[in-house]
Amino acid sequence: MRIAVAIDGPAGAGKSTIAKLIGEKFNLMYIDTGAMYRAVALMAKRNGISEKEVEKLSSLVKSLNMKFINNKLFVNGEDVSKKIREVKISNIVSLYATVSEVRSLLVSLQQSMSQKYNVIMDGRDIGTVVLIDAPFKFYLVASPEVRARRRFNELKNKDIEVSYESILKDIKKRDYIDSTREVTPLRKAEDAIEINTSNLTIEEVVNEISNHIYKKVN
Ligand code: C5P
Repeated sequence: MRIAVAIDGPAGAGKSTIAKLIGEKFNLMYIDTGAMYRAVALMAKRNGISEKEVEKLSSLVKSLNMKFINNKLFVNGEDVSKKIREVKISNIVSLYATVSEVRSLLVSLQQSMSQKYNVIMDGRDIGTVVLIDAPFKFYLVASPEVRARRRFNELKNKDIEVSYESILKDIKKRDYIDSTREVTPLRKAEDAIEINTSNLTIEEVVNEISNHIYKKVN
């Protein structure tokens, strides 16, 4: 059976942690679509291209060769996994993600990846656009405060200095931009299963998702 798993939800809901674990458990290729939007923001910033310069942005995106190797994103041969997580990229990525030309190029790329492999993808539009026919769709939610606390602890563990308040502000800002943008805003697909992760451990979320998958596969 072809397995494709879509995981959507707002920033910090636990999507990437959960997607990696489910991917390992079911032998699926994990594709972090947020990393792809982040890579576009990083490269645009390096080349001094704003989100308003749509033609330049399209050519830039077309020139990027993106590959995931061992859950790391390589762009034109460079491992950008760390740089795309920097706060300065988090602050601008959603603006680039509102550009419909950028979205359609990245969506095509994501769809072609899903045709080659059994995949688990996380993002904002996976269940509604990228993998519209996926047999497994999940929508993870949690309050902004819980999500900000998780991000804060994650960055603290990596010795990255940033305040809880600034993370909460960024999360709320991105929620707003992602869910109100004109092109394919963040929303739950009608056939997605919603899981509120606020009071659940990672293991509990993984178990809940795994049980849904086993039910259909067996
Ligand atoms: O998942 P992550 O928080 O790394 O995504 C960064 C940003 O990329 C999101 O805030 C959103 O603006 C954009 N994004 C998107 N569609 C996706 C994945 C990410 O618009 N499928």
